[in-house]
Formats: sequence, structure tokens, C-alpha cells
Amino acid sequence: MSVPGFLMSSLLMTSCRTAPKGCNGYIRASSSRFTSNLLLAILLLAGGILANVSTIEPDLDEPPLVEQRPFEMVNHQLYTTTALSLLTPLAPGHNWNGTGHSLNGTSNCKLIPGDHTWPGDGDWSALNETLGGRLIASVPLAAVCHNGPFNIYNETRCGEAREGWDRPETHFVEPVEFNAPIFQNATCDPFTSVDQECELGNYVSYAVNLTTDTAADDVKAGLAFATQHNLRVVIKNTGHDYLGKSTGKGALSFWTHNLKNISIIEDYSSDDYNGPAVKIGAGVQGFDVLDSLKESGYLTLSGSCPTVGLAGGYTQGGGHSILTSKYGLSADNVLEWEVVTANGTLVTATPKENQDLYFALSGGGGGTFGVVISMTTRLFEDRKVGGANNFTFAAASDKKEDVNAFWDAVGSLQNLTIPFVDAGNSLVYLIYAWPDRKVPALTTYSVTVPDCDTTECVDTAMKPFTDDLTARGVKYEYSAKVSETFLEHYNASFGPIPYGWYPVSQVTGGRLLPRAVVSDEEMGKNLTATMRMAIQEEGFTFGCVASSAKVGLREGVVSSVNPAWRNAMAFCLVVGKWDYSIDRAEMMKMQKALTEMVQPALDAATPGGGCYLNEANFEQEDWQEQFYGLENYKKLRNVKDTWDPTGVFYALTAVGSEDWELDGDGRVCRKQ
Ligand SMILES: Cc1cc2nc3c(=O)[nH]c(=O)nc-3n(C[C@H](O)[C@H](O)[C@H](O)COP(=O)(O)OP(=O)(O)OC[C@H]3O[C@@H](n4cnc5c(N)ncnc54)[C@H](O)[C@@H]3O)c2cc1C
Repeated sequence: MSVPGFLMSSLLMTSCRTAPKGCNGYIRASSSRFTSNLLLAILLLAGGILANVSTIEPDLDEPPLVEQRPFEMVNHQLYTTTALSLLTPLAPGHNWNGTGHSLNGTSNCKLIPGDHTWPGDGDWSALNETLGGRLIASVPLAAVCHNGPFNIYNETRCGEAREGWDRPETHFVEPVEFNAPIFQNATCDPFTSVDQECELGNYVSYAVNLTTDTAADDVKAGLAFATQHNLRVVIKNTGHDYLGKSTGKGALSFWTHNLKNISIIEDYSSDDYNGPAVKIGAGVQGFDVLDSLKESGYLTLSGSCPTVGLAGGYTQGGGHSILTSKYGLSADNVLEWEVVTANGTLVTATPKENQDLYFALSGGGGGTFGVVISMTTRLFEDRKVGGANNFTFAAASDKKEDVNAFWDAVGSLQNLTIPFVDAGNSLVYLIYAWPDRKVPALTTYSVTVPDCDTTECVDTAMKPFTDDLTARGVKYEYSAKVSETFLEHYNASFGPIPYGWYPVSQVTGGRLLPRAVVSDEEMGKNLTATMRMAIQEEGFTFGCVASSAKVGLREGVVSSVNPAWRNAMAFCLVVGKWDYSIDRAEMMKMQKALTEMVQPALDAATPGGGCYLNEANFEQEDWQEQFYGLENYKKLRNVKDTWDPTGVFYALTAVGSEDWELDGDGRVCRKQ
């Protein structure tokens, strides 16, 4: 098999720890790329996408598989009494101390359905009226796959849900769906028996469908209701969060998906920035903004997966992009936040106004400081972008000497990447081993050389890598290219927009790789040995984004991203593919291996590193230090205590969450 053929096959298979049939998600993902291509082509032909206008409302979503159910259509009694569900897997430090007792509104615990002071139908009706009918009672998407209790079983729709379960667009168009399989907890998915009751489990109970004109008032009303009734509050944008932070048992959720407004501001002016900017609603996703800006001559930062939401978890948690080496993290570029705080007040946070809140929202993590309604961020000039097609190499065989040579080459590549990213460039690379974990390979999804508009300067930027591989006798694939626009470059790697190809069902850990480790001979070797163990012995895949997050800071403007970003040459996501076709207990073993062995080994091999709070293991030890940096965490905790002193907002591993724990029934309770 030729190298490209081998690599393409292995790429499709790469994350599978088990039987090949578990890889259907990848194969499906690649075929749905053609569907997306087609969709995009139709949209372009129809001329339906506006660009270069001041206010744009893209509407690229496919219809949801299950119709949203307005509050009136749902049998609430049925719903609330069947919602007592299986237990949530807990992070270390959370105690199982369930009493099973019904609780009242004055308890230290937030209520769950079935508690005797849980709001009655009349209360929910009144809230729905206040919200102008925008309250949605949760019906899990996979209710169509189960006989009860929702009684909407539908074989065709169930098949569609099953087929699309590993795709982001299946979940983000739905008000209460979320991706993380561990938190789905098999209480209502399309893979369990039709006779199993569809239980809400970790699903929120109700969602408020926020709309552009009414969002702030609706959040205010929802927060008042939640406070009055002692309810858990959750904020959901796309549901992409790997740590389950956009869902929560019994919660009232604010669903931001429909806040899609995008307005270009040609001459934004403030003390720290004068230039073009864009104001985006909290529901705007990467593909919305890429599409809307494509003829404007501007670009802004977004994630590698085009469906990640911009103003939600992504930017609030830091937000890396293939342009980070040139323009910084997304959090470094925010000019303004509009946010409704825990007491229901709409405030603007900028580097000058409500400075502490601005600091916290710009990197301190989503879901805990308030409900962001919009974000204004910097725009940059769109121009030609240099890159390379599938820069790739693999071990020549599964013989020990070839595998050793491969890993030496990886260590060297990571070291050579430091000057590469410092020159403003980025590399997105995947390291995996196939078949049977025997032959390791590295392939790049994206090589980005932003200041380069000829293939010659791409070749020059890549020469240290190609020279090194040649000197080592390691065969590689590589060809330089230049894209006319950033979108063209992005689409070649991660597109086509709107949905791209990323699957979403996985076990997840991650680590920021410090420059000092990668550039030290001994520590660098230890790091690659650890990666080798995780990939070839434990069957994980590493997806790394090499960039320099040192740039992008505006004078006098401080964001709260984990300081470990500033010393890192790359962030690596550690991924184990979730396979719904095998026993869930097997998948939980993979999570256990991650938590107890792989992640600690990686942490130990990267002293001075840290984790990216958005792409991490929800069971990470010392998460305050690893996700935020200890000094930073103290400041963030002060901001939390100032703006949300009673703990209205809670999310696992979010700032302030150490005050809370889950009881045995899944209630969030204040620690005594
Ligand atoms: C396939 C895939 C690819 C990814 N690629 C990248 C990447 O290239 N770069 C990168 O940096 N990250 C990436 N991520 C991680 C991503 O940034 C996080 O999953 C992020 O949390 C997603 O934010 P969201 O708002 O879309 O998701 P959600 O799950 O809806 O929300 C995430 C968190 O933000 C909170 N939140 C959402 N909206 C608001 C709001 N309006 N106000 C306050 N809090 C809010 C939620 O409560 C939750 O805590 C990727 C994730 C996936 C699944």
C-alpha cells in the first residue's frame, strides 16, 4: 500500500481502540463531508449568504431530528416524575453521599425533579408566559428510540439519530443535547434497548430558547425563577463541552444557539484598540463567522472544528486557532462582553469597565461568571495564506528500529516547531498508530504560514522539518500550497463549512507542552516515550496544535488564560474514540486508564505545563492549578465571589465549583 493510501486508511481508523466497526463514525464523518460540500454548494449557488453587510444572520442549520417541544406540548407530570435517573460519574473529590430524600427549596442542594418543592406545572406555565412561550421542556433526541415514557418511538428517526450521533450538527441544533458520552450516561441514547426507559439523567429539565431581541430580559426572568425555586442553572451554546459543563441534572438552561447576529464595526475605537471589529451574538459558531466574513476582507479567530461556538466556552476558556501564533488566543482579542450576571443585571465588561469581569470572562472558563449575550472582538485582514498538503510521515515498519526512528523524529519535529511557531506559523498534527497500534504515524491536518503568499516561502519555513527527516532517512509526504483566502485555507484542512469532519464522541484528556521540556534532550525524550506509551500501548491518539500563544496581548489588557499557554509550544488533546457498539464498561475502563495512568504520566513528563480547561479530562487532579494556574485561580475566585456570591452558576471544574458536590441522586449541594 502506498504511503498516502496507508495513511488515509489509518487516519480513518485511528482512534479506534477496539473492533474496526467502532470506526464507523470516522467513515461516516468522511462521507458526510460530501453532504456538507453539497449543502455548501447549494447555499453558494442560491446566493443565500450575505457578506460585507453590517448585520448578518446566517442560517445554515439543518432541521433538528426531534422537533423542539414548546412547553405546552409536554406532559410535565410524566416528564418530571420519570426524570429520577442513573447516577452521574463523578470527578475526584466529589462524594457519594446520597440520601434519596426529597429536598425543599431551603436545602443546601439545588432541586431535582421529584423533590417535594420542585416547581409545579403552574409555576412553569407562569414562567413560560413571562418568557413569551420560549420555555422548552426537555425531550432527549433519542426519545425516538425508546418506547417510554415519551411515547414518540420512530424507527426511521431513531436510525437517523444513531447514524448522526457522532456528528456535532446532530446535537447543537437541539436545545438540550450535548456531546460528551460519559455525561450522556446511557440514560437515553440511540444505542440502548428500545425497551429501556428514556430517562433524563444528566439532561437539563427545561431550556429557555434565547432570541436576539429578548435575551437579556429572558435570562433575567429565568435567573429570578431559578433563584426563587433553588434550581440549578446551566448555559448551553453548542453542547460541545468535553467536561459536560453545558448540561446538568434538573437544571434550567439558557440555550444561546439562536443568538446569531453578526455586525461588523469598521472603526472600533477604545483606549487599547482602534480598528475593525465584529460584534457577535452568543450563538454564533465558527462556520457562521467564517461564512459571513468571507467577502468582507476580514477574518477573526475560530476553532479547528467549524461548529465550535465563539463567544461561549471557546473564547471564555481561551480559544486556540491556527492563527494563534500571529494573533494570539481568542480570549486575548476580546474588546467587549455583554453579560447578564447572577443578579439578573445586563452589564458590559471591557478592559476599562467592569474590568474584573472582563478579565474573568476572557479565559477564565464558561458557565460560571454570567450569561454572555454578545462578544465584540478584533478583526484582521484576510489575505493569501501559505500552507502544505498533508505533511506526513510514518515508521517504515513495525520493527523496533523503525519505530524508534519514528519517535526520535517526532521529538526532533517538536523541538524544531518552536522557532516555526515563533515566526507566526502553526501546525496541527495527529499522532496515532495503526494497525493494532504497531506502526506509528504523524500527519498534519493543517500547516499554516500566514505571512507567506508563495510556495517558495512555505518551503523555506518547512525546510528545517524536511531537512531533518531527510537526514534521518525518514520518508515523508509534503507539498506546499497557497490559498487565496483564509476560508479557502481553512476549508482545505477542516472544512468544508458549515460542519467540517470532526467527530465528537470520545474520552478526552490533554496537556500543554512546555518549550523548556521539548527543547531539553532528556526531558524531550521522556515526553516522546510517554506519548509512545499512551498511543502504542494504551491506544490513545494525540491531536496537537502547535502555536505560540505569546502574542496578541494589547498593551494594558490582561486576560485570564492559563499562564501555561504562554510557555507552551503546543497543546495536545489526548483522545480515545468512544464506541457505542461495545459494552459501556469497556469505555469506562478507557476513561480509568486515562485518569489513573496516561494523564498522570503526561503531567509528570511535562513539568511547568498545564491543561487547556476546554480540552481536558474532567477527572483531572489539581484542576484549579492545572486548568487555571494557582495565582490566576485566586484572582478568578475573587471575581466569582464578587459577581456570583451565592453560587447561582455551577459547572464541573469551573471557578467556584469546589464549593459544591453532587449527592447520590445527582443534586448539586453546597459542601458543608
Ligand atoms: C470537535 C471539537 C473541536 C474543537 N476544536 C477546538 C479548537 O480548535 N480550539 C479550541 O480552543 N477549542 C476547541 N474545542 C473545544 C471547545 O472550545 C470547547 O468544547 C468549548 O467549551 C465549546 O464551547 P461552546 O460554547 O461551543 O460549547 P458549550 O458546550 O455549549 O459550552 C461550553 C461551556 O461554555 C459555557 N457557555 C456557553 N455559552 C455561554 C454563554 N453565552 N455565557 C456563559 N457561558 C457559556 C457553558 O455553560 C459550558 O460551560 C473543540 C471541541 C470539539 C468538540
